[in-house]
Amino acid sequence: MSAQPKHALWHPFADMGAVDGDRMVITRGAGSYVWDDGGRRYFDATASLWYANFGHGRPEITEAVTKQLQALDSYNLFGYNANEPAIELADRVAELAPTPGSKVFFGSGGGDVIDTAVKLARAYFAQTGRPEKVHVIGRTQGYHGTHGFGTAVGGIPANAAGVGPQPPEFSHVPFDDAGALEAEIQRVGADQVAAFFCEPVIGAGGVLLPPDGYIEAVAEICRRHDVLFVADCVIAAWGRLGTWFGIDRWPVQPDMITTAKGITGGTIPLGALVVAPRVAEPFFTGTPGAPIFRHGATYAGHPVACAAGLATLDIYERDGLIPRGRELEKPLADAVSGVNDHPLVKEVRAGLGFLAAVELTAEVMDADPGAPVKLQRACRDEGVIVRNLGRGIAVSPPLVAAEPELDLLATALPKALDRLR
Ligand code: PLP
Repeated sequence: MSAQPKHALWHPFADMGAVDGDRMVITRGAGSYVWDDGGRRYFDATASLWYANFGHGRPEITEAVTKQLQALDSYNLFGYNANEPAIELADRVAELAPTPGSKVFFGSGGGDVIDTAVKLARAYFAQTGRPEKVHVIGRTQGYHGTHGFGTAVGGIPANAAGVGPQPPEFSHVPFDDAGALEAEIQRVGADQVAAFFCEPVIGAGGVLLPPDGYIEAVAEICRRHDVLFVADCVIAAWGRLGTWFGIDRWPVQPDMITTAKGITGGTIPLGALVVAPRVAEPFFTGTPGAPIFRHGATYAGHPVACAAGLATLDIYERDGLIPRGRELEKPLADAVSGVNDHPLVKEVRAGLGFLAAVELTAEVMDADPGAPVKLQRACRDEGVIVRNLGRGIAVSPPLVAAEPELDLLATALPKALDRLR
């Protein structure tokens, strides 16, 4: 006999037939910890969904958001409307960007600005006399959200399956082979290719680190073929890799940077597309009558979200959190590498930024494709939240986490793995 879940809530990426009994209702958060509705405390080793970089429950955010709600609770940016927090946040983000003179286009979240970036790449070439440059290249295992274009540019086949055909102007290259990008640009024709999307470290696709020299090589290939280099830093930015944007760990100047998540520490939804001056130029001619980018979401640059963003940047600066993503990469790698030799583990990936993954062996996955979910559940029983991803689990703790929390992770992982046996 089948039974429907108790509640109407439909969870993203969830087996809704299994949700009852497994649902974890989080009711409270403070620092690196969250509590469920039964009062049980967990180390939030995923920083929710890669974003609670300063942890949970910061009073500065409550204060900034409350103040903004009292002054102006909403106002849009369409046409010539503006609000003060959006203006100020755009200027601050542009000031931090690796390319001086960048412009900032806000969206409601990561997927939103990915779609914006695809459209803007094509609009840029249309405005500069090359409207046939529309093709977009992504990477195998890349994740760029679940909006239309994000689904197409993403390289995780399961996420694009069963929802109809994907648009033909998208293709993918192996994530770790810069030469394959060059070959693909030549195959399609450089005069047809608008952009290449690249996560500095692939996140949701399994925490896949770029080989040495890869980022510099793909940036150079893009420049040589006049293909826009779009760095998807939705996860990588705001300290996760130890720098403001993540991509600025490498000596490259992307044409666009997509970001979201940690820009508000996840407290209020917000995305931002950082656009290098060259790409913005056709739309910023300095005289009336400039081409208009006919694109925008209702909540783009929402004043409350931008107020949270400003308070977030203050926290990162005041607490010196941004470099911690690099300072903590070795301690995190040490914490997870304890399971490197565990018989159920194929590989541990860590060492570049404050994120890591544990991949299960092929035998484990063949015997039970649900093993990552079971591992996640077993870690939860040990008081640590990890994320099941593909063939294993991933962690990306808050940047405020310290040795005691990493010890919790180091202790929980082998115990949880043992319980899978
Ligand atoms: N790009 C990357 C690299 C991401 O990791 C994500 C989400 O995890 C997205 C884009 C999509 O962001 P959102 O879920 O806010 O739409």
